[in-house]
Amino acid sequence: MELKLKAMAKINLGLDVLRRRDDGYHDLRMVMQTIYLYDRIEIAESNEPGIRLVTNVGYLPVNEDNLVCRAARLLMDEFGIEQGLRIRLRKYIPVAAGLAGGSADAAATLVGVNRLFGLKLSREELMKRGVKIGADVPYCVMRGTALAEGIGDVLTRLPNAPDLHVVLAKPPIHVSTAFVYKNLRADELKTHPDIDAQVRAIREGDARAMVEQMGNVLETVTIPAYPVIDEIKACMMRAGAVNAMMSGSGPSVFGLFDEEDRAKAAYKELAEGSLARNVYLTRFFHAGGTAAEAARRNLW
Ligand code: ATP
Repeated sequence: MELKLKAMAKINLGLDVLRRRDDGYHDLRMVMQTIYLYDRIEIAESNEPGIRLVTNVGYLPVNEDNLVCRAARLLMDEFGIEQGLRIRLRKYIPVAAGLAGGSADAAATLVGVNRLFGLKLSREELMKRGVKIGADVPYCVMRGTALAEGIGDVLTRLPNAPDLHVVLAKPPIHVSTAFVYKNLRADELKTHPDIDAQVRAIREGDARAMVEQMGNVLETVTIPAYPVIDEIKACMMRAGAVNAMMSGSGPSVFGLFDEEDRAKAAYKELAEGSLARNVYLTRFFHAGGTAAEAARRNLW
């Protein structure tokens, strides 16, 4: 049997850092949104023992440094599964871009291995295991619109965010998440986004208030280091975005548009220009229903 899964990227509609903790992690408050930009993962049983991963991205590890292998190994060890696995990962989500691509791959692999071996773990049980791989993995199992607190693993599902057109652009640079958090002066931040106000706007279905409350404190580190991020934001605003912001620790920038024509024009301008290397025109992905329904509707 072979399973095919979609590992979907996320953007942050809001990202606040409350404090640096003694263990080196940070306490965060983030509004998360899944978007229709995904890696494809195929998982099949194999006669050879172990986990064999192949991917279309030459520089990614294919051993247990890859989050896909770690996710598969985690469940196989727990359930004593000795069957070999063949996994094919086709990456379309830019790597080290603030889009949680690796975490999304890990989440899809947990869902896939659970299904392939009939382990019958619920979504919540997969989320609990996911945090051992990375703080964003439980959210990537949940998907949709959510408030993430703690290190990102304390999740509250929100109603679907009001639908807007998304233009996503990543400049040709890699930004390490560790670099950004190491250089963040969490105690000295002058302004914080009002995450509660943004959550309220989403609960009320108020698109205008939701975009007005967009803010990401990590921009204070990443933008001075890479001013091209600000240039992309300015380009999106000139093209008619209702707002534009960096996602996660960057360097990806997204612009939200209420008119499709403007989104298309912004996409075209960025795709033809030199500021960004990867440019996408996409939408919010709305999770919903049970994991079984998601499987039936081919949403994984
Ligand atoms: P986040 O938003 O969670 O910080 P990111 O989008 O910035 O994540 P990723 O694309 O998830 O970053 O990758 C970060 C690092 O993780 C990469 O440099 C890569 O070496 C490693 N990695 C391990 N497995 C994967 C995977 N399946 N896909 C992408 N990167 C992976």
